[in-house]
Amino acid sequence: MIIVMQRQAPKDQIERVLEEIKRYEGLKPIPLIGTERTVIAVIGDERVLDERHIASLPGVSNVMPVLRPYKLASRETKYESTVVKCGNGVKIGGKTVVVMAGPCSVESDAQIEEAAKAVKKAGSTILRGGAFKPRTTPYSFQGLGRKGIQMLEIAAKKHGLVSISEVMDVRDVEFVARHIDILQIGARNMQNFDLLKEVGKTKKPVMLKRGLSATIKEFLLAAEYILAQGNQDVILCERGIRTFEDETRNTLCIATVPIVKELSHLPIIVDPSHGTGKINLIAPMSRAAIAAGADGIMVEVHTNPDTALCDADQALNEDKFKNLMGEIKPIVKAVGRTM
Ligand code: PEP
Ligand code: MN
Repeated sequence: MIIVMQRQAPKDQIERVLEEIKRYEGLKPIPLIGTERTVIAVIGDERVLDERHIASLPGVSNVMPVLRPYKLASRETKYESTVVKCGNGVKIGGKTVVVMAGPCSVESDAQIEEAAKAVKKAGSTILRGGAFKPRTTPYSFQGLGRKGIQMLEIAAKKHGLVSISEVMDVRDVEFVARHIDILQIGARNMQNFDLLKEVGKTKKPVMLKRGLSATIKEFLLAAEYILAQGNQDVILCERGIRTFEDETRNTLCIATVPIVKELSHLPIIVDPSHGTGKINLIAPMSRAAIAAGADGIMVEVHTNPDTALCDADQALNEDKFKNLMGEIKPIVKAVGRTM
């Protein structure tokens, strides 16, 4: 960290900053005294320091951190891209672009079985299905809970698919981790720090979705919570953010993909279903995501969208999903990857 003092800052203010830095074991402040102003270079891992606190000290003009605040998620710490093994030979973050597909929510044994069959047939390797649903209103369908988790597990296993499902409550983490291959943390829980720590203690891959109004820095710091518990298998998911635009359900930020690739070694996938909320935008946004370097996409598929209990407007039917798979293939090839 570089701390620039104000012009002519008195000696006692400089001393005060030096004392503050020395309070932290492992940090050493080196004052560079100039004729006009003093600059203090901090040697050591500066991330223990609160940048805003240092900036608020009397006489401080500017604070410039050198290291990213997310230590474990950063490419500065680990240069090679992380490849997350999800079981069944499915890897996220390698040469392959994965497609996670399935209904917004698990509704019945028959519904999830049909969905599994359809997504498998079209070439997907990962089956999604929500059992714990974060609904805006408490009066809409809340998901089948643990029963839904078991239905998803059965359907995925039957078709040799990897399963992914959201967990919302720390009390369900152990159960979901026992039955499902990838734990999903939804956008609304991106900063539920106790939940992040709990999934960080499991040995299952975790897919973390970007919060509705989270910056990329906050997104990576949320991932840091999981990594800091010892779970290195974190997959990020861009799913759009809230903006003033109302043509789409959310504003899908494709730029997140190359930005995250530069800042972090973690794989990142894109969810154009929640990102746009519109069926006709799913294919173009999927192509854009893959072209931008995404490691995969997550799309909502229902074999009978008219009857879907959740997110019916954005669910692709079997034919549309098949077309989508055909449309992304040339893009996957063009960026030198495989499906
Ligand atoms: C989901 O994927 O089921 C979901 C609820 O998405 P998000 O958390 O991104 O809203
Ligand atoms: Mn949904």
